[in-house]
Amino acid sequence: DEETSGDIGRVSYEEFLDYIRKGIIPDSLTRSELLIFRKRAKNFQLTKGIIYFNPAKRHNVKPRKVLWTEAERQDAIKESHGDQHAAQAVMMDFLKKHFFWQGMAEDVEQFLVSCCQSKLTTDKNTDEDNERRHPLLEAKIKVFQDYFAGKNICPKQESLDSLFLKKEDITSPLRDLVAAAMESARLTISNLSSTDATSAQET
Ligand SMILES: [Zn+2]
Repeated sequence: DEETSGDIGRVSYEEFLDYIRKGIIPDSLTRSELLIFRKRAKNFQLTKGIIYFNPAKRHNVKPRKVLWTEAERQDAIKESHGDQHAAQAVMMDFLKKHFFWQGMAEDVEQFLVSCCQSKLTTDKNTDEDNERRHPLLEAKIKVFQDYFAGKNICPKQESLDSLFLKKEDITSPLRDLVAAAMESARLTISNLSSTDATSAQET
């Protein structure tokens, strides 16, 4: 696994820099740890004072900047999540393209628990209508409702496709929200006058 090939254990930034620059061996390592460390250190490069992870050395893959501090990592995660609350898979794609640190996937999961999931849980508990405020879902609910209300009988295939998130794009709480949104759209339809509902069902 490519990510594992960058696992340098408990070697610190300073120790690693000393090793790459001057060949100074970190003294915290046992003999067997040192063997693994030397092998894995070859997957890194030092460019203009910055350490990059570049295991495959393929031409089409850019070296990934190694983020050493918690602050740098959190900033990168926030950037990948963005204002639109990007899904986990989208975040991981972005982060793995540009950055490297050990435990990235776990950090992203942890971040999502405190950002999206805690928000969703709070909303559900306080005000059931709040779940519609999720920006990603709001647009989808609108397409869905328009479609069933007969305002957009022949939507483009892509906007229909966008109603159904790809499995890998969403975390399970979000999937529950989509189900809830669709249910709420159906309820809206059943509240409409019978003629409207009939014309929507015929499509
Ligand atoms: Zn979020």
